Amino acid sequence: MIIDERTAAFIDLLDKGNTPFLDEIEACANETRVPVIRKSTQSLLKFLLACAKPKNILEVGTAIGFSALLMSEYAPEGCHITTIEKYEKRIPVARENFRRAGREEAITLLEGDAAELLQELEGPYDMIFMDAAKGQYIHFLPDTLRLLSNGGILISDNVLQDGDVVESRFAVTRRNRTIHARMREYLYELKHHPQLETCILPVGDGVALSVRTG
Ligand code: SAH
Ligand code: MG
Repeated sequence: MIIDERTAAFIDLLDKGNTPFLDEIEACANETRVPVIRKSTQSLLKFLLACAKPKNILEVGTAIGFSALLMSEYAPEGCHITTIEKYEKRIPVARENFRRAGREEAITLLEGDAAELLQELEGPYDMIFMDAAKGQYIHFLPDTLRLLSNGGILISDNVLQDGDVVESRFAVTRRNRTIHARMREYLYELKHHPQLETCILPVGDGVALSVRTG
């Protein structure tokens, strides 16, 4: 938890909640220890969807489809979502969830490693939700930027690693050091890239919002 628990709980309790179907998938994810975006991140996504009204969205990291379905539910009519997942066990579960929600037409699931699939995509997308392996964001960035429309928004999740990113590299466990270094590099790039305006929010596990300015 990046912000104090009481504040987080207060904010989450004010939320009017999601549809029962989304609640069911979220509960299933929590039971089976599949990562899903947190309440505060959900709320931020809904806000951004209402503001930016994207027509097509690219998501990297489907898991079992919770965030894709949430975006599909709260995006404007006709919005199409392309989402990428490489973990074989999660792909059929996500497909079944999209089918049950009646969203097979609105959501295209691409199976495979984003490192390869991103290179083949054409875009442009007016919203990109980056929610995959944190250590890879920096490697995906050239393709991410190529695929983002002018004025498009890049949302990067889990950028503060539960607070680890702000600690010295010696304070994080050895196995997390590579991710720690790469995430710091990624955040620096987002903040200094000439084509991006970025703000980093201590929401959920840390979210970076970038808009492509030219
Ligand atoms: N966005 C989802 C949660 C995604 S969890 C939600 O909020 O509902 C991150 C997912 O990214 C995992 O399922 C993992 O298998 C996938 N992933 C990680 N690295 C990837 C890569 N290089 N290519 C494709 N999928 C990847
Ligand atoms: Mg996440």
